[in-house]
Amino acid sequence: MASCTATVPSLVASGDQLYGQRICNQPFVNWAWDVFDFDWGDWDHGFGAEDPCNINLPLARTLNAIYCLTYSAEDYRNESYDADILHWGGRFARSHIDELDARCGDGSKVAATAWGVWDNYTDLYLVYFYQRSVPERAGTLIHESRHADGKGHDKGNLDSSWEYNGAWRWQVCWLSWFAATGVRTSAAMRTIARQRANTILATWFVKPPGFTV
Ligand SMILES: [Zn+2]
Repeated sequence: MASCTATVPSLVASGDQLYGQRICNQPFVNWAWDVFDFDWGDWDHGFGAEDPCNINLPLARTLNAIYCLTYSAEDYRNESYDADILHWGGRFARSHIDELDARCGDGSKVAATAWGVWDNYTDLYLVYFYQRSVPERAGTLIHESRHADGKGHDKGNLDSSWEYNGAWRWQVCWLSWFAATGVRTSAAMRTIARQRANTILATWFVKPPGFTV
């Protein structure tokens, strides 16, 4: 990796083994590369540009998340905004995220999005690649797409409330729908998603919504 290294945790526990078989498909790689505007120079030098099927590397692990974000609704071809977020989340993310870039990060941040500047972008860090499971990474893409849409946090890195309708709420909603109705996945992945949703509910709202999923 460019200037950072990481230990790869269990590929089974993270879901990368499960999804890795699916993303290793040239038409899918080409499609995802295009719609999320990946650039070679942001993903080479160890991040996986030369090896998109290698689930030990950041690019394939991000492609796994994009697959999960795109195909987890039973009728995934229905991306209507009248349906739930599990249906339209992928559509929203790819139409609002300007470009996805791999970076080392500082070891604590998961991802960051710059918006309202001349060239918007979303950076994904080592925590995202190696300390989050596939559906959790998908949830982060939803979170960042809400920022790319122009909605920041209103209390530091926290959202003031559920009613604020910010990135944390959107992430919880996607994870909850995935946990309840997600397909082309496993029971273990759905459990991880529910746990992450509950962690967010307990942690990232100034006024906790008062329910769990
Ligand atoms: Zn955020």
